[in-house]
Parts: sequence; structure tokens; C-alpha cells
Amino acid sequence: PISVKGLNHWFGAGEARKQAIFDVSLTVERGSLTVLMGPSGSGKTTVLTLMGCLRDVQEGSINLLGHELFGASRDMNENLRRRLGFIFQAHNLHSSLTALQNVVMGLQVHGALSPAEEAEAARHALGLVGLSDRMDYLPGNLSGGQQQRVAVARALAGNPDIVFADEPTAALDRESGMSVVAMLKKLGQVRGTTTVMVTHDNRILELADRIVTLEDGRIVKDTGEGG
Ligand code: ADP
Ligand code: MG
Repeated sequence: PISVKGLNHWFGAGEARKQAIFDVSLTVERGSLTVLMGPSGSGKTTVLTLMGCLRDVQEGSINLLGHELFGASRDMNENLRRRLGFIFQAHNLHSSLTALQNVVMGLQVHGALSPAEEAEAARHALGLVGLSDRMDYLPGNLSGGQQQRVAVARALAGNPDIVFADEPTAALDRESGMSVVAMLKKLGQVRGTTTVMVTHDNRILELADRIVTLEDGRIVKDTGEGG
């Protein structure tokens, strides 16, 4: 579902222009769990956001679910984005909406479900992350770990083809962190959901099918493709 070739990326303009990504290439297998590792500033988030159509590709090629992102129109990217789930560090929950309403709102961008189906899918996703008994809580009344799990539920509720996660376990205790990643891994096996995740968490590495290490914007180590 993801094939990256010769990816380069720059930030800034004029004299401040600085290359952040250098000749990154990788092909990710369907249903696999790929972990991106590397020191702070090594380019993990940049690569993840480029693959997730959250940034325009400046140079090189990214084929996502059969679509080339280089030179792609905004409309096409909008359509592709509906097939993706995002779990980012700042979980961006709406503080005035309950856990259930936050997940439903994530589903409404799909526009494919009736309100009853949306609520059903949202309840199911919240059940998956162990929050069946917290669905009607506002984020402010949930712990950091529970808020993160709402964000996970929101990313999974639409049954995405690919999940992009940037340090999804950072705010979680050991047990919930492992259960979130184990769940993503299981979704890969049963639904073919592909996950690309940035993490510093050593415990997660043993669940990964593949570990790609970045340094200074380059891939310096790759344990290989597939599972
Ligand atoms: P990581 O996620 O591995 O910590 P990033 O992808 O966030 O690394 O950053 C890679 C490099 O690109 C860093 O040198 C960072 O300073 C730079 N960078 C990232 N985002 C921006 C931005 N919006 N503007 C300017 N430089 C950026
Ligand atoms: Mg980052």
C-alpha cells in the first residue's frame, strides 16, 4: 500500500532553506506493522506526514494505495485521507464533546454512514480500546492515557486501510501502551490494516514486523520488508 522512492524534502526558504529528508526509499507490505525509529530531529514525523498526504511531496515519489502523491491534487489527497487513520501525539480531542461524540466526528468526514451507523461504529471502536464505560465522558474527565485511547478509537473507527501513528503510546502506561499496539498488530492480521508508527518505546519493537531507523534524514538501518 505504500511505496516511497527517492524522497527528498526541504524546510524554509532562501538562506534558511534546509534539507530535512535525503533519498528515502521504502516499500511497506499490507497488514504489516512498521516502526520508524531515530533520534529527535531525524525526520520521522516529516516522513510520516509526507506519507499521510499531510504535506506536499517536493521531490521523489510516494505511491499510496495505488495513487501517486507527487504533483497530486488536493481533491485526490482529500479522498485518500478518508482511507487513512491518524494517531498523533497531540490528540486534538474536542473538549466540549464526549468521547463518543469525538469518535463520531472523526467518522463524519467519511460521510458514508447514517448517524445510527456512525454511533454504532464509534461505540465498537471505543470498546476495542477498552473505553466502553467512558463513552459519555468529556476529555477533561479522562486521564491522559484514556484520552489517547479515544484518539486511537477515532483513528480506527472508519476502518482505515493505513494507520499513521506518531508516538501513540507516549502518554500511556506500559499496559495500555502495549495493548494499543497489540490491537493495531491484530487489525493488521485480521483486516489487513497497515500501520506505520513512530516510537521510542523499546517494548513495542518486539511487536514490529519491521524497524526502519532514520538519522539526519536518512535511512541508516532497515530490518527488511514484510513480516
Ligand atoms: P523527528 O520527528 O524525527 O523528531 P522531524 O521530522 O520533526 O524529526 O524534523 C526533521 C528535521 O526537519 C529537523 O531538523 C527539524 O528541525 C526540521 N523541521 C521539521 N519540521 C519543520 C518545520 N515545520 N519548519 C522547519 N523545519 C522543520
Ligand atoms: Mg517527531
